Amino acid sequence: LAKKSLHEPYVYYHQEMEDKTLWRLSMIRQLRTDFADNRLELFYQPQLSLATGKIIGAEALLRWKTAEGKFISPAVFIPLAEYSGLIIDIGNWVVDQACQQLNRLAESKFPDVSISVNVSIPQFKRENFVSTVIAIAQSHKVDMSKLELEITENVLMDEPQIIIDALVKLKAEGISIALDDFGTGFSSLSYLQKLPLDRLKVDRAFVSDIAEPGGSIIADTIINLGKQMGLKVIAEGIETIEQEAELKALACDEVQGFYYAKPMPADDFFSCLEKINR
Ligand code: C2E
Ligand code: MG
Ligand code: MG
Ligand code: MG
Repeated sequence: LAKKSLHEPYVYYHQEMEDKTLWRLSMIRQLRTDFADNRLELFYQPQLSLATGKIIGAEALLRWKTAEGKFISPAVFIPLAEYSGLIIDIGNWVVDQACQQLNRLAESKFPDVSISVNVSIPQFKRENFVSTVIAIAQSHKVDMSKLELEITENVLMDEPQIIIDALVKLKAEGISIALDDFGTGFSSLSYLQKLPLDRLKVDRAFVSDIAEPGGSIIADTIINLGKQMGLKVIAEGIETIEQEAELKALACDEVQGFYYAKPMPADDFFSCLEKINR
């Protein structure tokens, strides 16, 4: 195969690129239509305190169900939404949905439970991003301290000062900020101290081998780093009881993963709260 592509490199790559471009365009077209037709849904994955075993929050995660009943992973369509600019409208819709659930929580027996929303780089780069998020939250009259935005360290890759200023404004309104996928991106540690963070999320990559001999060094280091900075530390991707035990030993604060619960529709999340937090 390698030999063939060596003989016809141009043709080989050209065809592949064209296929990829066409695929992308058709997916974007379908995403735009399906978003307009209400085919996106927010799922909620519980986040638990390791000390109490109670649910303290949920991460809101997008799901796209096509008309054919096929689920497309956000790992596939978020990049397309970013590339096409659709992420702006979708992202605002996500904040709106999360705020609706926050109000449901406020009126439930579980008013302290928070909701985290993922935010993409193109959203952050919008001049009116901060004011839009605040306006949506205010229109629902939510308790801002229960809303958290998850950013990845890659948002700092260019124009870090603009991002830091935006985060400071959000914080001033009481909104929390979490650093997602920590340790997998390209940011410099020097920025970490400049960010007004509340939580550090230990990426699944550092949790998967945590119960193996020598497999917990990075998780241990990240947990200590976060704690020394005065942040809450939450580990994601916990799938086994052994991983939980190790995270307890490392004094991690909070956990999220399939071992506890998969992302689920809002109604199921409320049932889950009734079962676990009562
Ligand atoms: P993320 O923010 O790091 O979200 C965590 C991902 O890990 C989710 O994948 C979740 O379902 C998955 N996960 C949780 N626990 C486990 C576990 O124990 N094992 C394994 N194998 N996976 C686990 P998901 O829902 O497919 O989302 C993928 C990514 O798509 C997210 O990564 C996030 O970057 C992005 N995304 C999802 N929803 C949104 C959204 O509303 N807006 C934006 N901008 N991005 C989103
Ligand atoms: Mg996240
Ligand atoms: Mg993550
Ligand atoms: Mg991620």
